[in-house]
Amino acid sequence: MREHGEQGRVFLVGAGPGDPELLMLKALRLLRQADVVVYDRLVSAAVLDLVPEGVSRISVGKAAGHHSLPQDQINELLVRLVRGGRCVVRLKGGDPFVFGRGSEEALRLKKAGIPFEVVPGITAATARSTYAGVPLTHRGVSRGVRLVTGHLREDQEIELDWRALSDPEATLVIYMGLSNLGILRERLIGAGLDPDIPAMAVQNGTLPQQRKLRGTLRNLPERVADAGMGAPLLIIVGRTVALADELDWFQTEEFPQEERHVAAVCLPRT
Ligand code: SAH
Repeated sequence: MREHGEQGRVFLVGAGPGDPELLMLKALRLLRQADVVVYDRLVSAAVLDLVPEGVSRISVGKAAGHHSLPQDQINELLVRLVRGGRCVVRLKGGDPFVFGRGSEEALRLKKAGIPFEVVPGITAATARSTYAGVPLTHRGVSRGVRLVTGHLREDQEIELDWRALSDPEATLVIYMGLSNLGILRERLIGAGLDPDIPAMAVQNGTLPQQRKLRGTLRNLPERVADAGMGAPLLIIVGRTVALADELDWFQTEEFPQEERHVAAVCLPRT
């Protein structure tokens, strides 16, 4: 605990995709210095294990549709915890500023006059696609990337610029798209995207139990349902998906599932 009366500070920290080795060094240092860590459901157990014993950990576990703590209460919790000079780490899966509501929390802290800093993390779009063998851009194949959410509140239409999203020369990455996969397909094809463009669904990306399914925009929703794939699921639509046939380095025969957690090992020097 810091000196009484000292101003506390909140660090909004990206936990990255799950593997602790894919965490920023700054994030690791802050996890070791924190007085309290407030974390989401998507933060992996392996990353949480880096929090020293004795440091309080508070789960505000947000599973899709089951927000155990509503966002405004999380905001208030952070404001309350930081009083008394505590160093609070707010740990979020991936990157705090990419579909992580980190900016909402930052605005609340700003309003309360509480100093904060943000530590970026590797977001699902980069981590999960890389581990599935899909480059987000590739010269001559894809010249850009778009990240969108496929989530919509009940009875609401997804408001996206479908024409812009149906650019065949950009890769489209859809977060939280599982429950609306059929609607997303319909709108994209309706806006002119080729139904045969390659598409992929990645579940538990980067983890040893990663599952990926490669299809086309036309058949992906049914194939995902048939395979019984569930959240967290990332959808990638675009021509670079086809490169995974050659570039998948993670889910290979050479790397059986039980060894995937030790993926990055150099051979000893002789
Ligand atoms: N801030 C996070 C995103 C939170 S939104 C980030 O930057 O990555 C949650 C969505 O992220 C999920 O619905 C899914 O689309 C994606 N996601 C998170 N973890 C994932 C995983 N292990 N495998 C596949 N997709 C994942």
